[in-house]
Amino acid sequence: MKILSVSDQVDPRIYSDKLKERHNDVAFVLSCGDLPYEYLEFIISGLNQPLYFVHGNHDHSKKIEQDETQTHPLGGDNLHGRICREQGLLLAGIDGSIQYNRKTKYQYTQGEMWSHVLRLVPGMLYNKLAYGRFLDIFVTHAPPRGVHEGVDWTHQGIKAFRWLIDNFQPAYHFHGHIHIYRPDTVIETRIGKTLVINTFQSRVTKIQTDFD
Ligand SMILES: [Zn+2]
Repeated sequence: MKILSVSDQVDPRIYSDKLKERHNDVAFVLSCGDLPYEYLEFIISGLNQPLYFVHGNHDHSKKIEQDETQTHPLGGDNLHGRICREQGLLLAGIDGSIQYNRKTKYQYTQGEMWSHVLRLVPGMLYNKLAYGRFLDIFVTHAPPRGVHEGVDWTHQGIKAFRWLIDNFQPAYHFHGHIHIYRPDTVIETRIGKTLVINTFQSRVTKIQTDFD
């Protein structure tokens, strides 16, 4: 099964009338945040496949009418603090980055990130009983602590995400927030059974689905 992930910067190869032709075999789409809502809506209508997203630290409400604001891409499904099943896969996600100023909504302290993660635990325990695994795909904007993180405050990894990986071992953790400027930047790191993937612009990942 192939999935398309997008994050952080609009990819002209995606924002193109060749989108369907290039990606007609993806099962669903993940957005790791910081992308314009209309771009995500273009992907949803262009591919006609489900799109799950988390918000990035730069996401904000968009005024569309005098008294109406848009807070998410229409037709997209926000994974924040939830567990969803998509084509047999167990997905969960968490919005935002570490708090570095109070100017945008999706910024959290490490402590707040812990509470987001801990809220997923009962659902993951249920998954283990019902499906034999806690979680298949974890989607966040920020990276986990110690993996792909930046050296500055804003791009630090989240401790609670690392704890989730270490203890619940989802097969994949997709994140964004870390822009790639050099071709030798590490974008995939294995932590036990979890493959941590930094998406910048877009990528297609062939998902392993034989979890047993
Ligand atoms: Zn970001």
